[in-house]
Amino acid sequence: MLSTKLGQRLEPGNESRPRSGGHAEGDPALIHLHGVSKVYKTAAGGYTALHNVDIEIRRGEFVGVIGKSGSGKSTLINMVTGIDRPTSGEVLVGDVAVHRLSENQTARWRGRNLGIVFQFFQLLPNLSVVDNVMMPMDFCNTFPQRDRRTRAMMLLELVDMAEHAHKMPSALSGGQQQRVAIARALANDPPVLIADEPTGNLDSRMADSVFQLFEALAAEGKTVVMVTHDSGLARRVSRTIIIADGEVVNEYVARALPSLSPQLMLAVSRRVQPITFQAGATIIHEGTDGGLFYIIAQGAAEVVLKRPGGPDVIAERLQPGQFFGEISLFNRSRTVAAVRAVPETPVNVLALDGGMFQSLLAESPDFGSAVEGVVQRRLAQTRSAAGGQEAR
Ligand code: ADP
Ligand code: MG
Repeated sequence: MLSTKLGQRLEPGNESRPRSGGHAEGDPALIHLHGVSKVYKTAAGGYTALHNVDIEIRRGEFVGVIGKSGSGKSTLINMVTGIDRPTSGEVLVGDVAVHRLSENQTARWRGRNLGIVFQFFQLLPNLSVVDNVMMPMDFCNTFPQRDRRTRAMMLLELVDMAEHAHKMPSALSGGQQQRVAIARALANDPPVLIADEPTGNLDSRMADSVFQLFEALAAEGKTVVMVTHDSGLARRVSRTIIIADGEVVNEYVARALPSLSPQLMLAVSRRVQPITFQAGATIIHEGTDGGLFYIIAQGAAEVVLKRPGGPDVIAERLQPGQFFGEISLFNRSRTVAAVRAVPETPVNVLALDGGMFQSLLAESPDFGSAVEGVVQRRLAQTRSAAGGQEAR
């Protein structure tokens, strides 16, 4: 319903726009952070809030940024909006180098290109709801003056707040204020929406309705970056970026090992070694000592059972975000199958040493049971694949 409203009323000419997540793989990123570090000056000396962060976000993605309080989420968001500047590194949005803009340039650029939504709404208390929504248009001089009120009313209708247009913000509930703040963020029809814990101050029903609004906007082709500590909502975005201690967790590590705490994910991210195997190359031989744990980052691999006198049996095809090599490490046994890059394409893996794998098992019972589940499922699969041969 919302999505239909948005499609018809907000962006009438958008038929050719990509839908949510509909970007082509090769699309250049819309938001780039390269080697971004932020060191705050404090009485006790420098405090590193972000350390060497690299992120790429493509047009139309709906990205959730998650991490504990104090991990650096707001600092990261403030780099993208130009509210604050990196100590080193680059921030590019489209072809604009945000970190190089002057304060005046930043304000003008932000007003036209970003819609920003905060945890505490930050509506101007002495302006009516509709005047709050008109303000960015007045500030940036974007739409003809005579059209601004009509557009503001259309946006309020979009977020189901039109009937409250002439109230003051203080007369509204938190959820209603946040809907108005979203209408205001849309005033100049920016391609990017940035929200820092927009549901952090709302009850769960209101949080859900605000989240649905972002979902609908992403489905209409907006690029949405939303900080959230709500793990239920985080599961519904198309991609998550996890931050721990000012560093970004490797995305493939996070996808492969969701049972680890963010801190352990980060430890793994720092430790893994990237390796590329050419198409068809064997990564693990059957019946050997094993020793490394692998996470797939790009391409695909296949689990192969070599059967003397018969053709190889492909037990499973593994994709980015999946892992292998765990059976021999978990059972401290020899490998039960071979794994190789698929014949069509090379595979990029992240390799973790066996020692670190064992210490993860020791430190994280959740990780242990997750791995054990995979080991059992795969052993059963291997047995049934092999069974077809042995029965003869
Ligand atoms: P989050 O949004 O994930 O809760 P922040 O990005 O706000 O975290 O903060 C990250 C760390 O940087 C925290 O330890 C915080 O105390 C510190 N910090 C944030 N802003 C400043 C500042 N202006 N001066 C000094 N330290 C700061
Ligand atoms: Mg914050």
